[in-house]
Amino acid sequence: MPAPYTGGCQCGALRYVLDAEPQWVVACHCTECQRQSGSAFGMSMLVKQASLTVTGPTKRFTRITGTGNENTGVFCPECGVRIYHMPGYANDVVVLKPGTLDDTSWLKPSHFVWMKSAQGWVIVPDGVKTMETQPQR
Ligand SMILES: [Zn+2]
Ligand SMILES: [Zn+2]
Repeated sequence: MPAPYTGGCQCGALRYVLDAEPQWVVACHCTECQRQSGSAFGMSMLVKQASLTVTGPTKRFTRITGTGNENTGVFCPECGVRIYHMPGYANDVVVLKPGTLDDTSWLKPSHFVWMKSAQGWVIVPDGVKTMETQPQR
């Protein structure tokens, strides 16, 4: 499916348009993604910062990652849904939570990362590559 893509939070206050193709899509099984999503893993879609236009109110939360970088999550202040985060390792890309897209039917991760902390029942689909920890950029 070609760009642009649209998405938003659960309450609808925060909306976005992504007008370029994502650079990659992964399922991240790290414990921070498990906690942030309240689920077994998080989905991460790397996109050019310039290709993402957000409208509506936002709130930010910054934490320091295990590698010492700042990681700032951006979310809807009304319903709390995380839309993207700004990784400390680069300032021209953001990591979108692709489950917030209006159409998620085309999403397919190329990699499962942080398999070291994946829940025991997780099965890796055919054709999906795995990494024990995080990808190197
Ligand atoms: Zn909302
Ligand atoms: Zn993660």
